[in-house]
Amino acid sequence: MRLAQPLENLIDQLLKLPTIGPKSAQRLALYIIKQPPQEAKQLAEAILKARNNIFPCSQCGYLTDVDPCNICRDENRDSSVICVAEEASDVIAIDRTGFRGKYFVLNRQFHLLDNSRLDNIDIKPFTDQLAAGTVKEVVLALNPDIDGEVMSRYIAGIAAEQGVKVTRLAHGIPVGGAIEFTDEITLRRALEGRKEF
Ligand SMILES: [Zn+2]
Repeated sequence: MRLAQPLENLIDQLLKLPTIGPKSAQRLALYIIKQPPQEAKQLAEAILKARNNIFPCSQCGYLTDVDPCNICRDENRDSSVICVAEEASDVIAIDRTGFRGKYFVLNRQFHLLDNSRLDNIDIKPFTDQLAAGTVKEVVLALNPDIDGEVMSRYIAGIAAEQGVKVTRLAHGIPVGGAIEFTDEITLRRALEGRKEF
């Protein structure tokens, strides 16, 4: 049996969202249409407003509604340390740890099996900052997968050309994890990042 067309349309739209499967899409759609019209309107407006008013900061790439973003404007942050991350959500996670340097966000996931695509990534604001000579350390915080590795090496090469120190997060074994089940890359990184006991 088919659902009413407007309901089907809503389900189809929700299905396009990441992590939402058919059952979740149906549940969300039914929930939305049971809400008072004002609630549905607020949801629709919030989506449009966010979509239309949020953009990557021209200096660091963090998602913002003012340019430069509040992180770039913050004079209490240490501009000599730049942490390179893939997504704005990574910045939020890293900032929660108390990191108070600046960031450069790439805003994309990588599928970089061919090196040629590296040149398509716009990192000019980042290289400009390095060229200005105020940056002393670049912290690589890209995801520990093959693409993150390729990108990390690419960025490390650029930083090295400018004589800037490059560090990266010491990816370790997760708390509660077992060494025997830890993949090779993680284990190697954990060894590389070992500290005096
Ligand atoms: Zn910014």
